[in-house]
Amino acid sequence: MPADMQNKDTEADREQSRSVSPYKAGLQGRCPKCGEGKLFKNGLDIREECDVCGFDLSKADPGDGAQVFVILIMGTIAALVGFILIGALDLAPWLAMMIIFAMILFGSIWMLRVFKATLVALQFHHDASEGRLHDDKDDDA
Ligand SMILES: [Zn+2]
Repeated sequence: MPADMQNKDTEADREQSRSVSPYKAGLQGRCPKCGEGKLFKNGLDIREECDVCGFDLSKADPGDGAQVFVILIMGTIAALVGFILIGALDLAPWLAMMIIFAMILFGSIWMLRVFKATLVALQFHHDASEGRLHDDKDDDA
């Protein structure tokens, strides 16, 4: 639970995690605490812990936040590119579809990595966690 995570974090850890830019860490898919270790394994899965600093990443959960952004942005870009390829450049529809399909496939994976990593980095940067009524350590045990 997020309460455990906060209890283990020292003030020095929090200061160090704030020294890493969440946007830079997100764009590069790096650990939000040290900015060095890789955040992902097998493409889009978030690692259990950082290889470099050992920071516990198992609680990092961007949920469906990244997918929503990527669907909306890629959908808009794909529609615009489709209009340009077929309408303005007069490409054959099958060729335009293949180009758009490849663009959506690779673009979505890249964007998902960037958005997921940025959301995780922002979560740690701002010390975001689930709401609690009081700060009792034995609360979640
Ligand atoms: Zn790290």
